[in-house]
This record gives sequence, structure tokens and C-alpha cells, in this order.
Amino acid sequence: MDTDTGETAAAAASPGRVMGKDGMAALVDILAGRGYTVVGPTARDGAIVLAELESADQLPYGWGVEAEAGRYRLRERPDGAAFANAAGPQSWKTFLHPPRVRQWSADRVGEETVFSADLTRPPRWAFLGVRSCDLRAIAVQDRVLVGGAHRDAVYEGRRSGAFVVAVECTEPAGTCFCVSMGTGPAAGPGYDLVLTEVVDDDGHRFWIRSGSAEGDEILAELPARPADRATREAARAGVAAAAERMGRTMPETDLRQLMAGTLDAPRWDDVAGRCLTCGNCTMVCPTCFCTTTEDVTDLTGDHAERWRVWDSCFDLDFSYLHGGPVRASTRSRYRQWMTHKLGTWYDQFGSSGCVGCGRCIVWCPVGIDITEEAAALHDWSRSRPSEEGA
Ligand code: SF4
Ligand code: SF4
Repeated sequence: MDTDTGETAAAAASPGRVMGKDGMAALVDILAGRGYTVVGPTARDGAIVLAELESADQLPYGWGVEAEAGRYRLRERPDGAAFANAAGPQSWKTFLHPPRVRQWSADRVGEETVFSADLTRPPRWAFLGVRSCDLRAIAVQDRVLVGGAHRDAVYEGRRSGAFVVAVECTEPAGTCFCVSMGTGPAAGPGYDLVLTEVVDDDGHRFWIRSGSAEGDEILAELPARPADRATREAARAGVAAAAERMGRTMPETDLRQLMAGTLDAPRWDDVAGRCLTCGNCTMVCPTCFCTTTEDVTDLTGDHAERWRVWDSCFDLDFSYLHGGPVRASTRSRYRQWMTHKLGTWYDQFGSSGCVGCGRCIVWCPVGIDITEEAAALHDWSRSRPSEEGA
């Protein structure tokens, strides 16, 4: 990535095309015409949510957001931009790694019990508006859920046919810190198409480039013109300016080492005094993947089902082994979550488990901020007398 312009190598190599709102409308229609179920952001119930789109008119044109620790509000934007609204409460894992999946059902037929697998085929998703942090989060979940010896068939079935339209961020929220995690605001690899939205005196338009063979085909079908230099430069400048306006930053240190070296820090007691162990942070996090199973029966006892549902390491039952939970205290559960995200995730999966989207900060009911906690641990580790000198 060019650190001055925020431009990826792929984007720099592809001059791309420029389209207006009519092109966005055509993009949704073309994707639907190819059999995709198009999902993208829309303004609903006071938030930018991800939902199935029947037309591009449902995109959140003219809506921005104000996001802070424990606070999220929509606000109108006079420029009419569609994607200047940062990450909302949902991420794409809602579609790729759903909150509830029926694994099998069983019916009593006479003296027999007949088991049936759930063979419902998932839609072919087209994700419109995948931000750079979320593009990286999908790559993280790819590694976790299908990148090893044990492949998650549910995820694989949903992920394998998905078409991804990324969007580069030009308007970070106050809780974003993708720059310090190296995940944005320019889009990295993994997209079929990538958009950068520009609204200036020359009008409202989208610079669109391809990252795959199917992306090439769709790009050629769009009502778009070759990208002009002014639009490309305005787009690059918008992304570069976004990189300068991150609301949050992680301490500039090796976070993996920081987590490993601060397990006994008093800060864990401090955050435990504030954390409600509600698990919101894990539900909204685009990389958290833990699940549990629930068995249910109907009232006759003739029909039973097993469901896989999202679970949270903040739940006492999550680490319950015979006789009690392994992590009984709030301190141990918050520390487990944060040290896994920023530290031991590297050991397991070769990357950070945090992509800097800021969702856990926004949707924490008491405004606990992972960057603030990391900074406090960093301060403590620097002020701690060295073991040599002790
Ligand atoms: S830990 Fe928080 S900021 Fe990091 S990816 Fe998860 S929700 Fe986003
Ligand atoms: S850090 Fe916040 S969101 Fe996460 S469990 Fe604690 S109170 Fe809930």
C-alpha cells in the first residue's frame, strides 16, 4: 500500500471506471440478475444496518453517523454520500457465520428415530459496501473457519460463492483505528470490485475497479466511463485524509508482547469493575467466532432439533467444565477476550484478531474502549520496575 495516498497496489494498477448513482443502481440490478442476493447497508431503526437490498435506492444516501464509546447516532449529511458512515452494529459474519444454524432434526417414527441434516442451500450473497476493516475480518474468519484441518461447512457453503464489493473509507468514525492495525482505510486484497465514493464540485460519483474475472465482466456492463485523473486523485485524497482522521489509535508497541507481559497488571481489576460481562463486544466483533449448541424438543417429545448459536467468552457457561467455570471472575474473562484478540490470536492464527473497526467500543453499554485499555496496560508496563533492577 502507498502510505501517502492510502492506495493499494491493485487499485494503483487498475485505472478503473467512474459511475454516478445510476451506475450504483445498475450494479445492484446486474448482481441480482446474476442470481446474487444483494446485501448492503441501509438506514433502519436509527442505525446503518446490513440488509437485503432490492434496489440501490435503499442505500443510506445522505446518512452519516456519530459514534463514540457507548454511543451511536445517525445524522443527516447534506452531501448525500452513501458510504460515509463507518461500521454499523452488524458485520458480514451475520451472513457468513450466522447467529443461529439448525444442524439437524430428529423425529420419532414408530419405534425408530429418524435424523435429518439441514440441507437448506444458502443464497449466493453479493456483499455491497464491505469496508476495508471488514474485508480483513472476512480474511481472518476464512483462516479460522476454513483455513485449517477442520473446515466449517456452514461457513464454507456461504463464503465460497460470495461476491464482494468493497468500499474504501473516506469518513472514519470517532471509534475507528484501522490505521494502527494496518487494515485500512484503503481496501486490501479479497474483493471482486472496489469503490471509492467522491462528492465534490464535479458531482457525486464512484471510482470503481475490479479485483477478479467476474468483477471485470460486471465492470464492463456498468454504465460508467473511463476513470479521469481528477476523480482518481480526489478519491485517493479522500482515503488519505481519512487515514489522518482516525478517532482512536492503538499504542505503538508490539501488542502481542504487551498482552503477554501484563497478565498481572492491576488494570485488569479496574476494567473488571466496569465490565458487565454482557458479551456485546463479542457479538458485534467481526472476527469473534465462538459457538455453542442447544438441543430443543417440541411438547410431544416426538421432534427434536440441535441448533448452533453464537456464544461469548464472557458467558460463565462458556468455560464451564465439570464442577465450574474455568474463568469465574470478570477480570479473567475480560483479560481472556482482550489477550486473545491482541495477543494469542497470533499464535493460533498468525494475525491479530482485531481489525480496528471500533464496534466493541461503540456497542459496549458502559463504553469500555479496547484502545484505552491497551494504552493503560502499555503505560503500566513502561512504568513497572524491570525485573533485573527489582
Ligand atoms: S476487538 Fe473491537 S475493534 Fe477489534 S475487530 Fe473486534 S469489535 Fe472491532
Ligand atoms: S467490555 Fe463492555 S460489551 Fe464487553 S462484556 Fe464488558 S460491558 Fe459488555
